[in-house]
Amino acid sequence: MAEIRVENLRKQFGDFAAVQDSSFVVADGEFLALLGPSGCGKTTTLRMIAGLELPTSGKIYLDGEDVTFNRASARDIAFVFQLFALYPHMNVRKNIAFPLLSQGVSKAEINRRVEETARLLQIDHILNRSVSGLAGGDRQRVALGRAIVRRPKCFLMDEPLGTLDAEFREVMVHELRELHNRIHATTVYVTHDQHEAMAMADKIAVMNHGVIEQFGTPQEIYNRPATMYVADFIGSPPMNFLRFHSGLQRGARSVSVQGIEIGVPEIHQDMAESEIALGARPEHIRFSDDSPFRGAVYGSEYLGTNQVVSVTTANGMIKARVPADQEFRIGETVGIVFNHDRLALFDCSSGMAVR
Ligand code: ATP
Repeated sequence: MAEIRVENLRKQFGDFAAVQDSSFVVADGEFLALLGPSGCGKTTTLRMIAGLELPTSGKIYLDGEDVTFNRASARDIAFVFQLFALYPHMNVRKNIAFPLLSQGVSKAEINRRVEETARLLQIDHILNRSVSGLAGGDRQRVALGRAIVRRPKCFLMDEPLGTLDAEFREVMVHELRELHNRIHATTVYVTHDQHEAMAMADKIAVMNHGVIEQFGTPQEIYNRPATMYVADFIGSPPMNFLRFHSGLQRGARSVSVQGIEIGVPEIHQDMAESEIALGARPEHIRFSDDSPFRGAVYGSEYLGTNQVVSVTTANGMIKARVPADQEFRIGETVGIVFNHDRLALFDCSSGMAVR
């Protein structure tokens, strides 16, 4: 298997920069998710790694070797597309074996590898079935089998679950991660779905307009978002922002919002008199009659295990995730308490986290 290293990778389409100076490393055996909304440059990044698109500038290294200008076929990479074209006139066994036929692998070795791959994907019982009658999940497994059987250095996957319905997607997310745990193939996985990225990836690169806004573990990205964009994109409902003006001093342990002091984790930089946003995840907010920070209940969404209550405050709407059995009346005034240790602060002009 292989390490993928991308250095200052850039792709221009005319004047438009689809990918802007991206740098990251996917360690040997690691699973990276490229996550972001439609058009942010995920697929273009993946296609450059695959060798299907030439970068405008920058370098791509596979296991230390500069492959930036190598042809796709010389890169030993398996690309799994969203729309997987299986050969409808062939059975499952032949579909999986297909990539080996042109590689001069012996018939016995082909059979051995196809059967091993089928066992790994738990489709060994349908090897002799025609692919045309298979359900979506099994078709996806056959497509994966065709990618795995070659034993490539790494896998690139572009929204491979995009066409599956919600129920199958969930099953396949689980299966893909299980598969990764078993074969530890270096993988880059493109998705716009934060749940898929969080559930499967070792590292996530959150992209926005061709730029990687943050690269880190799912925990780092969720707990310490580097920008307001990341904080807003990850989490559902996303992080709440309370905007206020304040000249924050280095070492401050609280901020003043509407004249009310709210404790925050220690700040290690001085902030000029700029607009600041206090960021709070819904699950880091609770209600208490004692709190001077008040709002009016606007509505609530019952989710079974908990509920998300929307509250209008002088600093905008706040959503709090609270126990399902708490009862609220619309319009009722509640006191809002933030979990101090878990709050984030952002400079609104740059969108960057204040640490
Ligand atoms: P999606 O999930 O919709 O595929 P994405 O994040 O993968 O989104 P890309 O497909 O990488 O985004 O596209 C990034 C931007 O580059 C988009 O604005 C797209 O229109 C543009 N783009 C992609 N390929 C080309 C091309 N061949 N010529 C011109 N513009 C392109």
